[in-house]
Amino acid sequence: MLNSVHEVHNYSRQARSLGKKIGLVPTMGYLHEGHLSLVREVKKHCDLVVVSIFVNPTQFSPNEDLDSYPRDLDRDIKLLEKEGVNAVFYPQPEEIYPGNYSTFVDVEELNKRFEGSTRPTHFRGVTTVVSILFNAVSPNVAVFGQKDAQQAAIIKKMVKDLKFDIDIIIAPIIREDSGLAMSSRNIYLSEEERSDATILFRALRHAKFLIDQGERNTAEIKKHMMDMINAVNSASLDYVAVVESELFLEVDELVEGSEYFILVACRFGKARLIDNFLIAL
Ligand code: AMP
Repeated sequence: MLNSVHEVHNYSRQARSLGKKIGLVPTMGYLHEGHLSLVREVKKHCDLVVVSIFVNPTQFSPNEDLDSYPRDLDRDIKLLEKEGVNAVFYPQPEEIYPGNYSTFVDVEELNKRFEGSTRPTHFRGVTTVVSILFNAVSPNVAVFGQKDAQQAAIIKKMVKDLKFDIDIIIAPIIREDSGLAMSSRNIYLSEEERSDATILFRALRHAKFLIDQGERNTAEIKKHMMDMINAVNSASLDYVAVVESELFLEVDELVEGSEYFILVACRFGKARLIDNFLIAL
């Protein structure tokens, strides 16, 4: 386990001098199959896998769940050992953000929409910590999950704009058998809410069905989804949207040859869940 930036710098410098390709999977820990699928994906593209575990304070706003965010380092380490991960970077917050820390990275516009509108400082925290992790680990390739589709788009934009020499891979969403997208925050759901929350997957699947049947009007697609979700008592819907896949701008009509995300964010009790489907026409 590597705890300091100094140790990670030495680790990656040595690996690179031996001609090894480094793959990075950034996480906040409390790992599940979704995270492990990213590890399996990155392995295909590199010689050494580094997983970072860091519950990043700057991506939480003061009223959010930073303190109660689930953590289980011992279990995480065991899971990563089983996957044959070569190094775990587990820094303390002061290592990443010492008292005099003052530099932030912002991907403008894209960081204001959807998740950024509900959580105004969230993406600035994400892009800042991912930049720090990229500079610490110097990976050749990094993998992120489509589960956080807007985050993935923002990171791709950041890498392009800031000219990071890193290949970014986006891996598909891993779901429970029920369709519920795996998430560390699913722990906040009661048994009943966990079952209610499968409505997000069912609504997305219905939207896909409508599109497969030829529906191209996004207002119609959204209406069906909202009706389904609003019929569930414990669901408090934040947004449903159909956006083009790069800048996350909403569209009225779907056209052939383009890629879209259908996005949904919804609260069930204490948990705020997000999910999406990628639609390639
Ligand atoms: P987190 O620990 O929640 O910050 O997530 C770390 C990485 O795992 C991010 O790139 C997420 O998009 C990805 N991830 C989280 N849940 C899933 C899932 N169900 N399927 C695939 N990737 C996921």
